[in-house]
Amino acid sequence: GEKTPAPSSGGASRRVLMFPLPFQGHINPMMQLADVLHSRGFGITVFHAAFNAPDPAGRPAGYRFVPVGVPADEDLLPTGSDADFAGALLRINERLQAPFQDSLREVLEEEERAAACLVVDSNLRGMQVVAERLGVPTLVLRTGGAACLVAYMAFPALCDKGILPPQDQSQLDMALDDLQPLLLRDLVFSTTTPHETMSTCLERIVESARHSSGLILNTFNDLEDAELRKVTNGTSVPVYAIGPLHKISAGAQSSLLAQDRTCLDWLDKQEAGSVLYVSFGSLASMDQEELVETAWGLANSRVPFLWVIRPNLVQCSEKVGLPDGFEEATRGRGMVVSWAPQQEVLGHHAVGGFWTHNGWNSTLESICEGVPMICRPCFADQMINARYVQEVWKTGFELEGKLERDKIEIGVTKLLSQAEGEKMRQRARDLKNKAALCIKKGGTSQTTIDLLVNSIMSF
Ligand code: UDP
Repeated sequence: GEKTPAPSSGGASRRVLMFPLPFQGHINPMMQLADVLHSRGFGITVFHAAFNAPDPAGRPAGYRFVPVGVPADEDLLPTGSDADFAGALLRINERLQAPFQDSLREVLEEEERAAACLVVDSNLRGMQVVAERLGVPTLVLRTGGAACLVAYMAFPALCDKGILPPQDQSQLDMALDDLQPLLLRDLVFSTTTPHETMSTCLERIVESARHSSGLILNTFNDLEDAELRKVTNGTSVPVYAIGPLHKISAGAQSSLLAQDRTCLDWLDKQEAGSVLYVSFGSLASMDQEELVETAWGLANSRVPFLWVIRPNLVQCSEKVGLPDGFEEATRGRGMVVSWAPQQEVLGHHAVGGFWTHNGWNSTLESICEGVPMICRPCFADQMINARYVQEVWKTGFELEGKLERDKIEIGVTKLLSQAEGEKMRQRARDLKNKAALCIKKGGTSQTTIDLLVNSIMSF
């Protein structure tokens, strides 16, 4: 991709403070943004939770890492497909607020280059309040898509109208006129989080945007033009669409798990466009039965596959493992790793499709490499992202309902070997080209980064 050139002046006398939410899908874009700002001359101070801490290794001079709070209690680390993620977010805010205030005060006193602002994850409204108290301007980074934020902004009105929470199953497929192409089911973000908790959580996200001096989104104009305009109207703050950040940042990667790079050698030996890459991100999980169905679905489809089985992908099960006979059935044609260098995998010429949970980063990474998707969203914004993949960008389709081997086989064949899949691939390639253009000189994201840098300089 088009990488940021050597550091240029701009922010030489200032530091930018940053606070990512302590989860992989949030740390990656925040650290990529840090790299972009560092390349414009800013010093970078990264505040981070004491758990899921980003690795300072490989960062150039000008970076500083400040741990905040204590290592996590169980209840701060939601795991499982539909764990109470929103509840954990509220607890994280509560738990980190006081220690962050102390840390921020210290940093403001001791750092030589003056802090221009704090860039905070939109889920950390609590930290933004602390910054406001200490007179530090804030920018908010939204690590999801614009469409998702538009839906979050519409949430309270849908509750007032009595549409949310849905009263019964029959309403789930109701179209939402102002949020096309979303269905009501796409706004049921979790089945375990109480409605009140979810409302509070979304309210704070929108509040963080509205209270900021600017909202940064990891998306690009050609992808979400109409949605970005709605975000601008709905927040009344400057909106900066500066993605895809992973294609602009040239910095060290920020993976919390070790990436198994041997899969790249394996991919080198596969035919172009033949491999299905399967990964469900850092949080989504499945039960043992779904694992078995997935295994046989992949085996029976007869395509080469690279499958990421994270250490905690399967939960709440005593007997975890791939079914007997699976290895023999797929020998030479399948590879299983516990964590992959995903961006490189998706950019590899051998990869022809991605079976994903549609976390925003995965969705964007797939789009930027022109890889079509099988969508299997689990919770949070994933259903919204999947809906857009299927209905708006038309670069993939959802695998709905109970996970069954026959259904998987049909889906995989459709994506990799049928005309329908080929059309999706072509549309994905168009989007890949658009993504490449927007990060070139004069492209919308590059131009917007200039505006963002100017704005930071003016604080
Ligand atoms: N990722 C990775 N290796 C893997 C799987 C995922 O490096 O084997 C990265 C992926 O490239 C993405 C992030 O982890 O940047 C996951 O973020 P996403 O928003 O897709 O999902 P989440 O984990 O937040 O559900």
